Amino acid sequence: MEIYLHNTLTRQKEKFIPIRDNEVKMYHCGPTIYDHPHIGNLRTLIFGDILRRVFEFNNFKVIQVMNLTDVDDKTIKNSQKEGVSLYDFTYKYEKIFRDNMEELNIKTPHHMPRATEYIDEIIIMIEKMLENEIAYKSDDGIYFSIEKSEGYGVLAQLKIDHSEKATSEDEYDKENAHDFALWKFTKPEDGENVWVAPFGDGRPGWHIECSAMSLKILGETFDIHTGGEDLIFPHHTNEIAQSEAVTHKHFVNYWMHAAFMNASGEKMSKSKGNFSTLETIKEGGLSPLDFRYLMLTAHYKTKLEFSNDSLVASAQARKKINRAIAEFPDFGSVQKDLLNIFIEMINDDLNMPEAMALAWKILKDENILEADKKATILEFDKVFGLKLGEIDQVEIPQKVYALVDAREVARNEKDWEEADRYRDEIQQEGFIVKDTANGPQILPL
Ligand SMILES: [Zn+2]
Repeated sequence: MEIYLHNTLTRQKEKFIPIRDNEVKMYHCGPTIYDHPHIGNLRTLIFGDILRRVFEFNNFKVIQVMNLTDVDDKTIKNSQKEGVSLYDFTYKYEKIFRDNMEELNIKTPHHMPRATEYIDEIIIMIEKMLENEIAYKSDDGIYFSIEKSEGYGVLAQLKIDHSEKATSEDEYDKENAHDFALWKFTKPEDGENVWVAPFGDGRPGWHIECSAMSLKILGETFDIHTGGEDLIFPHHTNEIAQSEAVTHKHFVNYWMHAAFMNASGEKMSKSKGNFSTLETIKEGGLSPLDFRYLMLTAHYKTKLEFSNDSLVASAQARKKINRAIAEFPDFGSVQKDLLNIFIEMINDDLNMPEAMALAWKILKDENILEADKKATILEFDKVFGLKLGEIDQVEIPQKVYALVDAREVARNEKDWEEADRYRDEIQQEGFIVKDTANGPQILPL
């Protein structure tokens, strides 16, 4: 079946035509590993995962790359603050990042290159650009000259004023205000984080890293490049300029960008201390899969308003569908007509909200056998990735045990009002208590 995707290059939904039949090569801009990922970034990652799953569901062979930025101003500064090597510092945050991915049931990309492992490839690209004179050397680094770049800014639909010269207030020594650094020469504060290069020792700029890694792993031209919409300019715009300056080939056929996630009307960022990481969500007693569910309820191109209430509502919905699937009998058959509707929805630029609504409709349909409902929705879950039917293993907090004990005392004293009050409190903690012949049994809500 045909797949349609919204392409940022054309600002249109287009039929996907792969470079090679039944194969898709995709590159996703990964995180800078210097802190806990914030939930805005996690939304983008879940989008990348859904995209991969949709192609796999359509029997494509997928090759997915996600880079890890392990050298930049922030990683260097923060590693020095902690008094550890850049490698040890970024390794710690890479581990946290990978754990977050696993908890969100995000499939591990086939390649997860670290920028510092591709310094040779970066240097070769910069040397080629210096040869072609599209790059120039200044006092503090090597810069890319956008004036000499044909078609610069097409992705971002930029109108560049080439007469705009760099002002003295600019932090760097460059000829045009929009020129960007390919390589930054060593500064005293870089410490031991220096790489030897023929044009001067230093370290790579951020943009060139992705160009070098994608070229090495996926080749000169590949199918899809994804990321958050904040990367359209300058990051992706600069990636195109560099890559095409080196290869003289078209870089990427389809660019896809996930929208921002807002919290209380503001763009999420690390500077705002709110419900902002997976850790804080777990501390709040919710599952990472509740967050994944919430992300599926909005289209990836829709700006999403994040709130604690919406997450709690998603948690309740996920529990409900999860329990229903767990309790339905096995060995049903996938309903082909419903499956076709589902495929049409997900192939229409990843319309997950509609696909999720279809799952709920099936769940409530009295004309479908429970076993068939289960088989069909579990088939959908290959794309949702919600691990439906697997009841969460939750740890029961000490407080809940204490409340259950207090309720038992009240019941023995036949103080039913007091016992009911405890039962309500237990529910508020997210548990229900069932009275069995063997005493009270505690279950997650
Ligand atoms: Zn990138």
